[in-house]
Amino acid sequence: MSDPLLVERMRDVQDIERRLLRHILGEGREDLAHLSKPVILVAHDLTPTQTAQLNDTKVIGVALDSGAATSHTAILLQSWGRPGVIGLGDISTHLSGGDTIIVDSTNQLVIANPTESTLAEYREREAAYSRFSHALDDIKDLPAITCDETPIALYSNIEFPYESRAGIAKGASGVGLYRTEFLFLRPEGAPTEDQQFIAYRDATLGADGMPVTIRTFDLGADKYTQQRSYEQERNPMLGLRSIRYSLRNLDMFKVQLRAVLRASAHGDVRVMFPLINSLMEFRQAKMTLHDAMEDLEDEGVALNRNIKIGIMVETPAAAIQIKEFCREVDFVSLGTNDLIQYLLAVDRGNERVSQYYIPSHPAVLRSIRDVVRACNQAEIECSVCGEMAGQPLYTMFLLGVGLRTLSMAPANIPEIKKLVRLTTVSQARRVARRALGFDTDRQVTNYLRDEMRKLLPDDPI
Ligand code: PEP
Ligand code: MG
Repeated sequence: MSDPLLVERMRDVQDIERRLLRHILGEGREDLAHLSKPVILVAHDLTPTQTAQLNDTKVIGVALDSGAATSHTAILLQSWGRPGVIGLGDISTHLSGGDTIIVDSTNQLVIANPTESTLAEYREREAAYSRFSHALDDIKDLPAITCDETPIALYSNIEFPYESRAGIAKGASGVGLYRTEFLFLRPEGAPTEDQQFIAYRDATLGADGMPVTIRTFDLGADKYTQQRSYEQERNPMLGLRSIRYSLRNLDMFKVQLRAVLRASAHGDVRVMFPLINSLMEFRQAKMTLHDAMEDLEDEGVALNRNIKIGIMVETPAAAIQIKEFCREVDFVSLGTNDLIQYLLAVDRGNERVSQYYIPSHPAVLRSIRDVVRACNQAEIECSVCGEMAGQPLYTMFLLGVGLRTLSMAPANIPEIKKLVRLTTVSQARRVARRALGFDTDRQVTNYLRDEMRKLLPDDPI
């Protein structure tokens, strides 16, 4: 059936089928939204949409058969501080409702029906982790500045407008990445221009005059379009996603840009295009923004005409052509989550190849260094907003190659700030140089871990 309405009805029938089977099997399951006590959710898979609905529930941890560490499901869980172990293969077939399990997201481990001594050991670890986190609260209001007085901007990555204020409470000095496509990941579907405007304006007001980088929709791949399409793409990560999807759906794109521009009258809003792969794509996106700007001005709507326009560098093509991009963009943000998947040809959401998804791969480190170097030479602001920015293992390397802006899940800000305050730029440069000299990712990881431990010996992670 090609009619989207009928395709939707098919889902209703499947839902009824599931419910009938559940009743026949006599399973009185609780609805996730109305749980009576805290639970760990074990499932085959969760889409980002389903994960987005867990925030207000009593789900305290998640274990999944599918997915990988930088899938959007994992990113969402992390940003809400829910431990999650993802990509376990067949965990859902080994556990039953009521089992006691430990979800150890640090070591990506699930322990079923633990012994008393294992439980006690994990209770102690949990306590150590919470002592460490509380100790970090002490530096919340101190500046992110290295020992040799170089200021580092730590921004937050957010998925929902209210998180911009929460990020600042954690010590962020703005929003480096607002993943706006989460506005789509609600049962109601596509948001209107006004709904978008309210979300962007609220995120902007929550940032109290600090920068808010609104990334245009990164739909496609694992978000939204596949579940809704009649025929799914064979390679969605290489498919009609992100800026490609927006440029193919110009009406929808323009509605978003109008909403962003309207919000730009309320604070320091910047607009960022994801997955830009060629200058033509960037120019087309920028032209669409200017069209929206002219329409709004004709309508007498207030906006910031000089809004900063940037791109995410998340494909090898953009990294290689960075010098040309620097002539046309106001800022650049390295989306290492995608950059790694495309550099190493590893689907970031596929648990079968997750051992090949290696941020410390020498090719990844060199690409980051080259992009940062080109941006610094051209005096174009450059940041990292992929997960690497929030991982203490890479902080010294990133500072050492010349990054001065890192954007991450708010929960990671205190620890990264602590590291920043313990290091000097010259020390970070030495670490980066040494890391770039290794041939294999193992050497890189071991070396970076040793250097990090010297600064943060009591980190329980
Ligand atoms: C990235 O790719 O690094 C990024 C920050 O964007 P997302 O994780 O939303 O794809
Ligand atoms: Mg990305």
